[in-house]
Amino acid sequence: MTSYPVEQVDDEIRTLMDDMLETMYAAPGIGLAAIQIGVPKRVLVMDVSPEGEEPNPICVANPEILKTSDALAECEEGCLSIPDLTEKVVRPAECRVRYLDRDNNEQTMNCSGLLATCIQHEIDHLNGVLFVDHLSKLKKDLSLKKYKKMQREKMRDMAEK
Ligand SMILES: [Zn+2]
Repeated sequence: MTSYPVEQVDDEIRTLMDDMLETMYAAPGIGLAAIQIGVPKRVLVMDVSPEGEEPNPICVANPEILKTSDALAECEEGCLSIPDLTEKVVRPAECRVRYLDRDNNEQTMNCSGLLATCIQHEIDHLNGVLFVDHLSKLKKDLSLKKYKKMQREKMRDMAEK
């Protein structure tokens, strides 16, 4: 499922961004796409500031990747939509992204490190792609099997309590 661009960042979208930040921090997670709370709009929020430091929320609408580096980076990724599962995913190490900020101003941002991984992961959500889709078919099948097993065990634990 593909999410739709917003016409502009207005109060409605700002409220959505605030709700998403709340959900993300509560999870806790470092990024969230609107579709993960059931809203098919091209809106995402992130905060990759190190634990224990001041929060640094980034609100993004209609992101567009302008450029990615040839250099790749491997990062252990997880996702609030596939709880408890993490896998190493290879992506471009750096990217340049154009987007509308919380005040509806057009911005471009050069991303590297964790931010580059996070924003590519979140933009994938807007296009209906999950991080496991970047794995080889074999790896993905194994990974989803592992996930289902973990979910079954979790259900069993809950039933026993
Ligand atoms: Zn995710």
